[in-house]
This record gives sequence, structure tokens and C-alpha cells, in this order.
Amino acid sequence: MEMIKHNPVTGSLVEELKLIVGGGNVLADPEAMASYSRDETPHIEPHLPEVVVKPGDTAEVARVLVLANKAVVPVTPRGGGTGLNGGAVPIFGGIVMSLERMNRIKEIDEANFVAVVEPGVPLVELYRAVEDCGLYYPVYPGEKSAFIGGNVATNAGGMRAVKYGVTRSFVQGLEAVLPTGEIIRAGGKFVKCSTGYDLTQLIVGSEGTLAVVTEVTLRLIPPPGSQEVLFIPFIDLHQAIRAVPEILKQRTSIAGLEFMEKDAIRYIEEYTERALPFHEHGAFLLAILEDDTQEEVYQAASRVAEVCAQYGSVDVYVPPSERAKRELMESREKLGPAMRRHGAEELADVVVPRSRIVDFVTLVKEISRRYEIPIVAFGHAGDGNVHLYPLREGMDAKKWEARLPRVMEEIYRGGASLGGMISGEHGLGFKKTAYLPLTMSREQIALMSRLKTAFDPNHILNPGKVFDAG
Ligand SMILES: Cc1cc2nc3c(=O)[nH]c(=O)nc-3n(C[C@H](O)[C@H](O)[C@H](O)COP(=O)(O)OP(=O)(O)OC[C@H]3O[C@@H](n4cnc5c(N)ncnc54)[C@H](O)[C@@H]3O)c2cc1C
Repeated sequence: MEMIKHNPVTGSLVEELKLIVGGGNVLADPEAMASYSRDETPHIEPHLPEVVVKPGDTAEVARVLVLANKAVVPVTPRGGGTGLNGGAVPIFGGIVMSLERMNRIKEIDEANFVAVVEPGVPLVELYRAVEDCGLYYPVYPGEKSAFIGGNVATNAGGMRAVKYGVTRSFVQGLEAVLPTGEIIRAGGKFVKCSTGYDLTQLIVGSEGTLAVVTEVTLRLIPPPGSQEVLFIPFIDLHQAIRAVPEILKQRTSIAGLEFMEKDAIRYIEEYTERALPFHEHGAFLLAILEDDTQEEVYQAASRVAEVCAQYGSVDVYVPPSERAKRELMESREKLGPAMRRHGAEELADVVVPRSRIVDFVTLVKEISRRYEIPIVAFGHAGDGNVHLYPLREGMDAKKWEARLPRVMEEIYRGGASLGGMISGEHGLGFKKTAYLPLTMSREQIALMSRLKTAFDPNHILNPGKVFDAG
């Protein structure tokens, strides 16, 4: 990736920014900017921006970008700051553009089954508004304080991807501002389109390197008539994972299928101070079943239970109340923070073809043994997306620092050798750029690099992300 020399933010640039967005929406004091220097990436060095701007509408976004482009100053778009790879961290300083003020749900169009929202709408607010209209936005990444703009920029996945797909599957259109200041609209309220290149889907998942997303048109669906959650203990992880392909053959009712090993359960229990049923066993599947009728869900649940029994499950826990169901789901959501509290310093988010998930987990366990580093595995078994937390567990610093990078590289190489990708849903940010060549050819990376330059000739937008900065 070609390196372009950026310029520092000058006092006069700060004054011009104030004229665009208003003095109260520009932060230049290091203390006030501290929370914009990091995201939720474990063990990350903070990088302070030179200035934070909070535009209130698309026109202000465009004017800020025109100014930054002219001055060749880096701009890092920021949503809820819940990213796990440093995507919103301004590693080259410059301007952080926080979309927090652009938080309006502009419209829920029930006739066309879409929501039109600004990028700063937190996911939790979208769920609420959509539910109030009797509709459903099923994409369910674990962190509800993330913004829609951030979800779009990372193509967030989450627990219900098996049945419904990921954020990309629900973005029908968007408005975005190019780093040179032009405003484009791509896609829209229509459900099919064969008109030119699909710029909507190119911008989805581009991690703020191509354009700033200023409005999103999201597809909505009718809610399921019935939902059930099953928590299924197995003797060990291999048994649990082996059951996955067979469970998936049970088809449409399975919205999500998660796996966790015993250690993960132990950390959740410590974190939530709540015991989980059957916690003494070695591994667990969590199946989320959703369908039109209760009967369909019950039938699917009993088929899942039968299949699991064939693969050696010990029992099946069906939460007896809505509250118990919610607590079970919350427990799964708390896994990331629980691992963090336990001192996890790295997190891999590899995706492999579903049929290779057993091979991948076997390979990871072998790496774990060889380097004497426990690696806790959990994730979205139903879509082959495996989250891995290597744990230091008292290893002395010198050994840990020498071994950890080798462990991560072997994990990524292993995933690639099985036909997988480095990241299934968190993106690359700046933490994983160096591994991109493991899963993408030189030609592909060169094409992405040319696309980047076409969108952003001065490489001001989120430099050092996705691609290796040098
Ligand atoms: C506890 C926990 C659980 C999580 N679980 C999941 C999970 O299950 N699945 C999953 O996919 N992720 C998960 N995540 C990761 C995170 O929530 C997602 O990556 C989310 O999409 C980030 O959204 P954000 O608004 O916080 O974005 P940020 O972290 O602020 O930014 C992320 C990236 O998007 C870019 N960006 C943000 N807004 C815009 C915009 N308007 N235009 C252009 N670029 C923009 C930023 O530059 C950056 O590159 C989890 C995180 C935590 C802390």
C-alpha cells in the first residue's frame, strides 16, 4: 500500500472545524479526547487524536472531509467505539470524526419493510423502534451499544447469522460521503437492482477506509412467531462440534448455533455471578430456534435434542421462563467481557467453512499444547466463526511475548489452510492487517488498493486500517 505523508492538525484547521460543526462539537483537550483514543480491543495502546469533531448532518461531514482532504490530514470515522481490532483508533493522529450526534431514526417504512437511520443510532435503539412497529431486525452482534454505522462498516455478524445472515444481508442502501467531499447515494428502498456496480455492498465492511456512511436503509422482516433457546451439555468440545453439521441439516428453524467450552462457562459464571446449568460438563452448544409457529419450533427443538443425543450430549436444558431465556442469552453475550477481565490480551475471529470447524478447533488445540498457552474457544459454530482467546495464565512476560505472535500466526495460517479467512465479523482494523496476505492473493490486495485510491486519492480516510501501513 502506497504511503502518503499526512500533515498535522494546525490551530487554524481547528478554528475552521469549529466554524463547520460549532465550537461545542470540537474537542482538542487531551483529557476530553482520551475516550476517543481506544476502542474495545483488548490490551491496546491508546492513540490520542489531534482533534475530535462531531458533525450533526451529512453536509457537515462533507465540509469536514473537504477541509481534511485539502490539508492532507487523516480522518478516522468513529461509531460506538466497540470494535475489537482498533478500527476506530486514530493510529496516525489527525481528526477523529465521531458520528455520535447523527443518531436519528429517520423513518420506519412499514410498507417497504425498511428503516432509514443515521449512522450514530445505537443498535439497542434500533431494536426498540423496530419492535414498536411490529417488525424485526434480526442481526444480533453481542454488543448493543455499537452504532449502526459501525455495524455497517465492519459488516457485523453475531448470533443469528445462521438463519438470517449478517449486517450486509440487511443493508439495502446507503448515503455516504467520499473523502473528497462528494455525497453519494447507493441502493435504496427497492429490493432488487441490476443497475451498475453495487457500491452499497462495497462500502459495507470497508471499515471506514472508503467513505463515511451518513445514512443507512436497512431491510426489516416480520418477527418470528415463536422462539426457543436450548443449552446442550456434552462431555467434550469435539463431541459438541461434531454434532453441528447434523443439527444444521434440521434447517430453517435454527437461527443461531453457538459453542462454548467448559473454561468459557467458568469465566462467564465468575463474571455474571450466576451459575449455568450442567456447568460441570466439558462443552456446550446453545441453539437459538426461531420460526413462524410454536409447533415448528418445538418440532425443531426435539430434532436438535435427538441429534445431540446421537453425538453424546448429556442432557438438554430448556429455560423454563422468558427471564431464564434472557439470562441464558445474556450469559453468552458476556463472554467477551468475561475473558477480558481474565486478562485476555488477544482475540482471534477466524471463519472457516462449516465443514472444517472440527479440523480447525483440533488444530488450535494442538497449537495450544505445543506453546503451553491455554486457548479458550467459543463462537458461532453454525457459521464456522470461531473466537479464540489465548490466555497468559501467569506465563512470564518474556516467554509470553516471544510465543504469542507465533501462536496467532499459526492460528491464522491454520484457518487459511482450511479455506478460511482471518476475520469472520470483527474486521481487520490495524491489528490484523499484517495477516491479510495469508488469505488473499497479491492480485486481490492490489485491486483493493487501487479501489482505495479511487475513493480516497490522498489516503486520508482511516489510514493504516485493513491494509498494512508499511
Ligand atoms: C462485548 C462485545 C461483543 C461483541 N460481539 C460482536 C459480535 O457478536 N459480532 C460482531 O460482529 N461484532 C461484535 N463485537 C464488535 C463490535 O461491536 C462490532 O465490530 C461493531 O460493529 C462496531 O461498531 P461501533 O459502532 O462500535 O464501531 P467503532 O468501533 O466505532 O468502529 C468500527 C469501524 O467502523 C468504522 N466506522 C464507524 N462508523 C462509521 C461510519 N459512519 N462510516 C464509516 N466508517 C465507520 C470505524 O472507522 C472503524 O473502522 C463485539 C464487541 C464487544 C465489545
